[in-house]
Amino acid sequence: MAVGQHRPTQLVIDCQALHANIQAEVSRLKADCELFMVVKANGYGHGAVQVAQVAKDAGATGFCVAILDEALELRAAGFNEPILVLGVTRPADAPLMAQSRISATVADLNWMREASRYLKLTVPNRPLNVHLGLDTGMGRIGFRTTAELQAALNFLGAEADDFNFEGIFTHFSTADDPDQAYFKQQVAKWQEMVAILPFRPRYVHVSNSATSLWHDACNGNMVRFGVAGYGLNPSGTAIPTTPYPLQPAMSLESELVYTKRLRAGESVSYGATYTAPTDEWVGTVPIGYADGYERRLQGFHVLVGGQFCEIIGRICMDQLMIRLPQNFVRGTRVTLVGRNGQRQITLQDVADYCDTIHYEIACGFTSRLPRRYVN
Ligand SMILES: *Cc1c(COP(=O)(O)O)cnc(C)c1O
Repeated sequence: MAVGQHRPTQLVIDCQALHANIQAEVSRLKADCELFMVVKANGYGHGAVQVAQVAKDAGATGFCVAILDEALELRAAGFNEPILVLGVTRPADAPLMAQSRISATVADLNWMREASRYLKLTVPNRPLNVHLGLDTGMGRIGFRTTAELQAALNFLGAEADDFNFEGIFTHFSTADDPDQAYFKQQVAKWQEMVAILPFRPRYVHVSNSATSLWHDACNGNMVRFGVAGYGLNPSGTAIPTTPYPLQPAMSLESELVYTKRLRAGESVSYGATYTAPTDEWVGTVPIGYADGYERRLQGFHVLVGGQFCEIIGRICMDQLMIRLPQNFVRGTRVTLVGRNGQRQITLQDVADYCDTIHYEIACGFTSRLPRRYVN
């Protein structure tokens, strides 16, 4: 998709905010505990390579991604730190991962059996680093019983030329929930499973942002730090207090490209769903659902001149219309996410209006929006 470099609509990423969040977390961790910044999905929409650089400067010693291509992107950008692919990769890509020193998540024994065939065929000059994923209740991927885990450990012991047992981990499904009952069940299951390990691998990790912020009792020796690094509360609003203030790094800005005086009775946008009750000023903003600014946001608001302005009529693919309190000159700044004057619109506000979570909004902004890095 073409990037809109000639349109005044952009995501503004505050590197200082990213740095402050990550550094605050690094400084809370125990001395033997590392922070791997999670930069999947283009760094939650913030730009994976740029976030990785800031995270490294702030003390991150490795990275987690969801898919192999995201790991390769970081390697191509020159990052030599450990990178763990959290999702299931193709066994056929095991040699590529081994060559690139990218660590694979292993969720079942058959994956390793298949991968070992590819590793033997291509003889990469180093073993593949693997992290065994344990499903302690997330119900997504991973070994589910001590028997399954034992079989994997036996296999790893026998195939030490092909695989390096580098890590073991689990993922909590309710670490952002004030009710800790299910979390505690997962911790118990985790402890039962890791008890059979003959030795601890290099990385033992259980914490996403929520776990690291609110449950640091079982941090292991590495945390997979994601959403909070971007300045977003992992719980949304369910757990309002965090050990340090989270600073949101992402803003979304545009400009008025056209204004007009609408007469009472005149309508706006597809379907003519909005009709002006009285004469009013209306501005057009060059952003739409093709940018990831969801069509469901009709009726929500943006900020112009420090004032909330309602989005009137349907949001189009590339443009939307807002009601203005007065006429503004073309080129006046429009803030869709972030601060403008004394007021602010957060990703959480946008997510609430869309009945979803800020994660989905942040990584839903499309590549048509240029990312501009400030501070
Ligand atoms: C995405 C992900 C994380 C990071 O989660 P946040 O809530 O963004 O901190 C950590 N671990 C795994 C396995 C993940 O998939």
